[in-house]
Amino acid sequence: FRVHAVPRKDHHERIEGAIVVFHDVTDARNFDQIRSAFVGNVSHELRTPLTSIKGFVETLLDGAMENSDTCRRFLSIIDTETNRLTRLIEDLLTLSSIESQERIVYLKPACLLRSIRNVMNMFGPQISEKSLHVEFIHPYPMPLIQADEDLLGQVFINLLDNAIKYTPRQGKIVIQCQRRDSRIITTVKDSGMGIPHESLPRVFERFYRVDKARSRQQGGTGLGLSIVKHIVESHGGEVFVDSEIGKGSTFGVSFLVI
Ligand code: ADP
Repeated sequence: FRVHAVPRKDHHERIEGAIVVFHDVTDARNFDQIRSAFVGNVSHELRTPLTSIKGFVETLLDGAMENSDTCRRFLSIIDTETNRLTRLIEDLLTLSSIESQERIVYLKPACLLRSIRNVMNMFGPQISEKSLHVEFIHPYPMPLIQADEDLLGQVFINLLDNAIKYTPRQGKIVIQCQRRDSRIITTVKDSGMGIPHESLPRVFERFYRVDKARSRQQGGTGLGLSIVKHIVESHGGEVFVDSEIGKGSTFGVSFLVI
């Protein structure tokens, strides 16, 4: 509690009592803690690639540049790390614009089928590079939903990106849309490595990763699923996940039909 006291005087200016106000600051303190943890996380995430870039640049300047193979290898690492920084900043901007409600959500009748097909086409090269089998099951005709098409695309980009990243070569990914009462549930099911049971409640948290090294190696920012959750909830929908280690994971999102 924060305590604020003001003396109360009678008409002879003698103190006859006090008015004491107790402010419950639990919420403000929790908010401050969350905010400083977030700033700490962001700084750490930015510093890691920067330290690596600086290290490689210094080694190149110290003479490693003379050898063209080493030079190429180091520049390629610098390129990867720079891409990671760019992605991280883009993800942070997306997250903060949705959170601060600065990004106006333009709800219009939208077609899930078209959004999902576009995203599948976008990932065509990665899908064939890993020889993945991708299936899309949906009712026909598909009811329209009320959504912001750009944000809707972002949801499926993040879910499919993860399914591809965390599934080994020749694995299987099934995207399925099903109508349930006034909602359309879309699930993205993969045959990948799976997520331990105790991590499931945390995967939608910002910067939470089951395996930090693997996420980094795959170019992950640790923000993809928190962006999915924010977008889906800002559309009045819900997210869920189910997974079994070694068998695969299923991520689901729901949207209201028109
Ligand atoms: P990242 O950029 O690290 O992929 P996300 O927010 O998208 O961040 O996901 C958070 C974490 O959840 C990942 O680091 C990974 O450990 C786990 N995860 C997400 N999707 C999958 C999946 N399809 N299979 C296995 N693990 C997953």
